[in-house]
Amino acid sequence: MQEKLGIDCILEGEGEKVVPKLFKDAIESKELPKHLFGDTPDVDEIPAIYTPSRGGIVEITRGCGRNCKFCMPNLLKFRTLPKELILEEIRLNLKNGARHIDLHSEDFLRYGSKGLKPDMAKILDLLHSIKKIEEFKNDIDLKTDFLSSSSVLQAPDLIEEVSHEFGTDTKKKLIEIGIETGSPNIIKEYMAGKPKPFDADDWQELVEQSIGILNDNERIVYGTMITGFSEEKEDDVIKSIELVERSAKYDCFLFVLPFISMGGLRKIGSIPVDNYLNDPLRMELIKKGLIKSAETASNFVKLTLSNIDYLNLSKWACHLKT
Ligand code: SF4
Repeated sequence: MQEKLGIDCILEGEGEKVVPKLFKDAIESKELPKHLFGDTPDVDEIPAIYTPSRGGIVEITRGCGRNCKFCMPNLLKFRTLPKELILEEIRLNLKNGARHIDLHSEDFLRYGSKGLKPDMAKILDLLHSIKKIEEFKNDIDLKTDFLSSSSVLQAPDLIEEVSHEFGTDTKKKLIEIGIETGSPNIIKEYMAGKPKPFDADDWQELVEQSIGILNDNERIVYGTMITGFSEEKEDDVIKSIELVERSAKYDCFLFVLPFISMGGLRKIGSIPVDNYLNDPLRMELIKKGLIKSAETASNFVKLTLSNIDYLNLSKWACHLKT
């Protein structure tokens, strides 16, 4: 495929240690290796960006370590980036006119942690330090992107404090968590680290409680789920449907996505999309997730669609139901 697509060089892994030389060689028309691996840099070998990032994204941790088999970020070792590096990148973005700063990680609550337990002091210190940056004005939209249910449940008090720091402006309310499935068996088979330190058998309860805690703190959850794992049985899909039904009373979007073969499972292949269309149970799951999302969207039209709130999403939700 590499030759067919005319790709000169494939780099797998992290860029810091090899990309500068690689690009220099390319510019000088030197021969490039067809395939190479980028070693893992220590955090002090990661330089600050030189130009503003798209959407004001600033990386605060890298990797994950919960070891979900299908996950790309999990291929990288978990590290917290140095606070000074983070502040420098925020400053650079703000100086170049950014109005949004998005603190990117696979789980914001892991920032500064040595294990799976959130480190409240480190997280609050980072947020307070950001607010002290000279260029940081009150109208800057500071937010983060991902949390995990198990971290939320370990630190409900921290969620309250962190939500307060981020603010409750409508734009800051969305937060994504990876729900993936309602089936403890699928959790155990493909993502045993995800519920830790809690038990995989309690996964539905963990997800439900974490969404409740986030809703109580004015966060609306954007939850992604997966169907189509090779070991997924009918009962696993039914458990995912149950979880979607249990979420009815919460403010959340639930998007059920077909399994895509990547990360540690990249060689096993994915089910063709047409097969989902002919699978009534999986279609039921996908449809129920869409209905729930449409209902949430219609309750939060301004948040979801900003100024295109003329779309009548309630009607869409009713249409899907029938
Ligand atoms: S918890 Fe999320 S980021 Fe971490 S390995 Fe699992 S899917 Fe990947």
